[in-house]
Amino acid sequence: MSQRLQQRPQESDEPLLRVENLKKHFPVNSGFISSIRWNSDSGFPLELDDKSVRAVDGVNFDLYPGETLGVVGESGCGKSTLARTLLGLTEPTDGAVEFRGTRTTTFDRGAKREFRRNAQMVFQDPQSSLNPRRKVGNIIADPLEAAGWDEAKRRERVRELLGQVGLKEEHYGRYPHEFSGGQRQRINLARALSINPDLVIADEPVSGLDMSVQAQILSLMQDLQEEYGLTYLFITHDLSVIRNVADRVAVMYLGDFVETGPVDRLFTEPHHPYTRALLDSVPNPDPDTRGVESKLVGDVPSPSDPPSGCKFHTRCPSLIVPDPFTRDEYREYMELRGDMRDESLQTDTDPASVRAHYFEGNLPARVEETVERAVSHAADGNWDEAQSALAEYLSPCEAHVPELESVDDGHLSACHIDSDDREAFSW
Ligand code: SF4
Repeated sequence: MSQRLQQRPQESDEPLLRVENLKKHFPVNSGFISSIRWNSDSGFPLELDDKSVRAVDGVNFDLYPGETLGVVGESGCGKSTLARTLLGLTEPTDGAVEFRGTRTTTFDRGAKREFRRNAQMVFQDPQSSLNPRRKVGNIIADPLEAAGWDEAKRRERVRELLGQVGLKEEHYGRYPHEFSGGQRQRINLARALSINPDLVIADEPVSGLDMSVQAQILSLMQDLQEEYGLTYLFITHDLSVIRNVADRVAVMYLGDFVETGPVDRLFTEPHHPYTRALLDSVPNPDPDTRGVESKLVGDVPSPSDPPSGCKFHTRCPSLIVPDPFTRDEYREYMELRGDMRDESLQTDTDPASVRAHYFEGNLPARVEETVERAVSHAADGNWDEAQSALAEYLSPCEAHVPELESVDDGHLSACHIDSDDREAFSW
């Protein structure tokens, strides 16, 4: 690990980027008619459906000069939308982004141009972000041309950049298809760095590359960070990549950060069950710990209809279960309640069928009574009452949104389990 990566941001440093309560929601239905709900009896419109996809849903962080913040999470958790919203490529729904202490929404034309120069993006798929009909030298020179550099200076700078990213001068006149995936990512890096930006947002820059090429690109990115004094926001689904490049990590789930902290602490002492589950999913070369079964089951829920309370509760292996359930029983109960809510039981409403379909073993007697009551309401078509009956038991994880709270110096986690309660957290 380089000296730079061991350095922590100084308290006195002003953040390069400050992000406050950033939200980006997309309407589910863009057409007016499709956003109206209809009363099936009268045929009259009831209300406008304001459902939206909450891709980014209240993100806060500071990014300090010279550091690398890794943002990690499964695909579909909002990482790429966050990147695009930070750079102004898509308008935020709410919240603020400050660059060097000034809100980006207040930038005049000149400041906007300067921001675009200063904040560059490197995308996942270098093939699709490089115009196949243009020579590599011209692609790298594009930002220089836009900044008014004359041709002789552009050529000189591009040659210098080609060397810095490990390519050769003769590559100047070649086309993107003549390069391997790793080389194309080097071209992307050269283009992004051509006009000396301060901030680079790299969105899955090594995904799709094989392991040895990944290592080369990551090492190159670290060298370039030293040389150019760059600040990185590094987005990836791969925790093992983050461990090698980041100073701090933010773990993202369904549009929110659920845990943030220094990289070493987050890897050795995760304080959020989602982080812990992601870590368990990373293949481990150590034969003593190899084979740890990942507890991360199921898919990320739809961001247009996120779970109540803690958004991770539908998949959380540490879910706090109400008395008198075991965790498995309560998962079964939650599934039944979800289907009641959607009025779509996976069996007929005969009590014995429901009981057999949703529950494997015996339930505590008072839960049996509740389930029976709910099923008889459903059999009568009273879905609301069926739901109300099942609402008798509710986990705090479903009822309340956990806030990001400090668990140690610079380490925050959003979970209802007491941070000192190791027993409850382990599985
Ligand atoms: S709040 Fe509950 S559901 Fe969410 S991570 Fe913590 S234990 Fe799991």
